[in-house]
Amino acid sequence: MNTLNIQQIDDYDSLLMKTVAKQRSNWAIDDWVLGIHSIYGDRNTPKSPMEMWLHVANDTSQLSEEVRKGNLEVVVQDAAKIFGRVCVLVGKYLYQKEFPENDPIKTLLRNRDAGDDFIGGRESYGKWILEKYPMRCGTCWETVCVCSAYRPIMENRDEYIELYDEVTKGREQKIMEIKKSSIMLMVSQVRLRKNFFLCHWTN
Ligand SMILES: [Zn+2]
Repeated sequence: MNTLNIQQIDDYDSLLMKTVAKQRSNWAIDDWVLGIHSIYGDRNTPKSPMEMWLHVANDTSQLSEEVRKGNLEVVVQDAAKIFGRVCVLVGKYLYQKEFPENDPIKTLLRNRDAGDDFIGGRESYGKWILEKYPMRCGTCWETVCVCSAYRPIMENRDEYIELYDEVTKGREQKIMEIKKSSIMLMVSQVRLRKNFFLCHWTN
């Protein structure tokens, strides 16, 4: 394979060991990404993101068909499968060590520099979800989503900029406020974790 040598994640092995040592029932979303990548990563190394995303799109359309038919048991299985496929794709772009020359993403995601992240730190699936939904809808920015109540405005928000701001009751202002409060929350969580570890180490 024509590869480009890129080694960005130098602590991959220790990350994986920490994940494997955890109870599976305590795995966070990022543990699943790492765990599933450790199984399927090698096999998916030569695959393009388009090929992998096609599986997600295909399974998602099957899932919506099963929802329409009301086959809820199949829906649960399909949803788990889609989650696994997305984890594989994310894991590829967070941990894979070499990429074919023509891969369009390579290390862009793991070195993503959005500049205005809420929570900072290493790029991960869990981080992206929290960035997009910090306990609020990513579009209307309400804690209880109101998008469907204003569907024409939400779907054409580039056209109705003033109406969009009106129905979301000052979305940009809220984003600024939440950014400030999430920095405070982050500081308090770091303190909590530090206290937790200190307790365990000293006992
Ligand atoms: Zn919404």
